[in-house]
Amino acid sequence: MKYEAVIGLEVHSQLKTKTKLFSASNNDFGEDPNTNVSVVDLGLPGVLPVINDKAVDLAILAGLSIDCRINMKSTFARKHYFYPDLPKGYQISQYDEPLASDGTLLIEDNKGKDKIIRINRIHMEEDAGKLIHDISDNFSMVDLNRAGVPLIEIVTEPDISNADEAVSYLKKLRNILIYADVSDCNMEEGNFRCDANISIRRVGDPELGVKAEIKNINSFKFVKKAIEYEINRQTKLLENGEEVIQETRLFNASSNKTFSMRSKEDAHDYRYFPDPDLKPLVLTEERIDLLKNSCFESYNEKMSIYINKYNISKNDSETLLSNKLLSKFFDDTLIYLNEPKLVCKWTISEIIKYISSSDFSLDPENFAKFLLTLKDGKINNNSGKELIEKLSISNEDVDTLIDSLDLKQESSEDLLNEVIDKVIDSNPDEKNRLLDGELKLVSFFMGQVMKETKGKANPGVINGLIKKKFNIN
Ligand code: ADP
Ligand code: MG
Repeated sequence: MKYEAVIGLEVHSQLKTKTKLFSASNNDFGEDPNTNVSVVDLGLPGVLPVINDKAVDLAILAGLSIDCRINMKSTFARKHYFYPDLPKGYQISQYDEPLASDGTLLIEDNKGKDKIIRINRIHMEEDAGKLIHDISDNFSMVDLNRAGVPLIEIVTEPDISNADEAVSYLKKLRNILIYADVSDCNMEEGNFRCDANISIRRVGDPELGVKAEIKNINSFKFVKKAIEYEINRQTKLLENGEEVIQETRLFNASSNKTFSMRSKEDAHDYRYFPDPDLKPLVLTEERIDLLKNSCFESYNEKMSIYINKYNISKNDSETLLSNKLLSKFFDDTLIYLNEPKLVCKWTISEIIKYISSSDFSLDPENFAKFLLTLKDGKINNNSGKELIEKLSISNEDVDTLIDSLDLKQESSEDLLNEVIDKVIDSNPDEKNRLLDGELKLVSFFMGQVMKETKGKANPGVINGLIKKKFNIN
C-alpha cells in the first residue's frame, strides 16, 4: 500500500523591535540573565500590558510580504499553561481573531515546478522565558530576558508534501522576513524556529491522518532530518497495522530521531479567553496603506527584476536578497555604474564579507569607481580583493589608494617579458617539460611571474607572452 505525507509548519519569528511586546524592557539578545525584565514581564499583580505599536507594524509588514489579508480587528487572548519560564501562568497570544489571514508563498517542488503553499494565518504573541539546565547539577535556572519578546507565528495549511519542500518553504520565508526588516531570523539565537506537523495517509485518501507535532526545530538541516525520520516512523506503524497517536515530539540532533514529549494537548486545555487587559487591536486603512507604501518593492518583485531585467541567476539573486543591506548596496551602485552582472559579482563575492561590520564605510559611488578601474585594467582581480578590503573601512579615493599600496597592474610587455625570461631561466626543468608539451606548466610560469611582480601583473598579458615564447597557440 502506498502512503503519502502531509505536512503543515508553524514558524515563530522574533520581531525586530527595541522593546518588548507589552513592556518597555529592552529586546536585546545576549544580555546578562534577568537584566531585561520589568514588572510586566514578571507578571506582578496590578500591572497592565501596553501594546508596542512598532511590533504591530512589523507584524503587518510580515502579513503584506506574504500576501495575507490584514484583519482590521484582531484580539489578544490568554493561553494558559504552567511552566517555570512563564511567571503569569498564561501567554498572551492571538487565537480566533488573528492579525492576518489567508496568505500564499510560492516555492519550487522537487521537480522544479512552482507550488503554492497557503498560509492559514499570522498571529502575534509574546515569547516565554528560558530555562537553563546545564549550569547546576541541582537546579534549573530561569532567565526571563526573553519573556515578553514579540513574536509572530506563521501557520501554513497542510500543503507541504515532503522534507525538501518544507526546507524550501522555510528558506524562502526566512529571506522574505529578513528582506522586509521584520526579523533578523537568526537561527542560532533562536529567533526563527519551526514546529513541524506531520501525518501520513493512503495516497488519494481525502481525509487527513493523525498528526504528530515536532516542536522547536532550529536549523534547516534538523527540519529535514526530523521530517524524514517522522515520515518513516509513521509509515512503518501504519504498515504494521498500528496507529499513529496524536502527540508532541522532540527531535534529538545526535541520534537524528524524534521521541515523544507529551500527548497532544487540545485547544480547550489552554482555556483560551480574550485578555481583559487589552482592547481589541483595531487598525485603520490609513495605517496599512502607509506601511504598504513604505514597504519598497516586495522580495518577490525584487527577485523578478534581478532575474528578468538584469539577467542575474536565481542563486545570485537569492544571495543579494538574503541581506537587505547587500541588495540596497547593489541597487545603489547601479545608479553609478549600470552593469548589473559585474556589480553583482563583486557584491556577492567581496562586499558580502564586510557589509555587516560596524566599520563598513564604502559608499556605492566609490565602489562603482573601483569597478571601473578594474574593468579598465588598471588593477587585476587579486589586487582588487585587497583593495576592497581596505576600501570597506576607509572609503578612500580609489586612485590614491592604488598608488599608495602600489597595486597598479603591470601591463607593459617589455617589462613583463624581462620577468618571464628571468623565471624561465631559473626553472630549467619546468622549461624543458613545457617544451615537451606539458601545457599545464603555463600556469606554473604565470604563478612565478605573479610572485615576482607581487601579484600586479596583468594575467591576460603574461598568459599571451608565455604562450608566444613557447609557440603555443
Ligand atoms: P493545533 O491546534 O493542533 O496546533 P492547527 O489546526 O492549528 O492544529 O494546525 C497546526 C498546523 O498543523 C498547521 O500548520 C496545519 O496545517 C497542520 N496540520 C493540521 N492537521 C494536520 C494533519 N493531519 N497533518 C499534517 N499537518 C496538519
Ligand atoms: Mg500547534
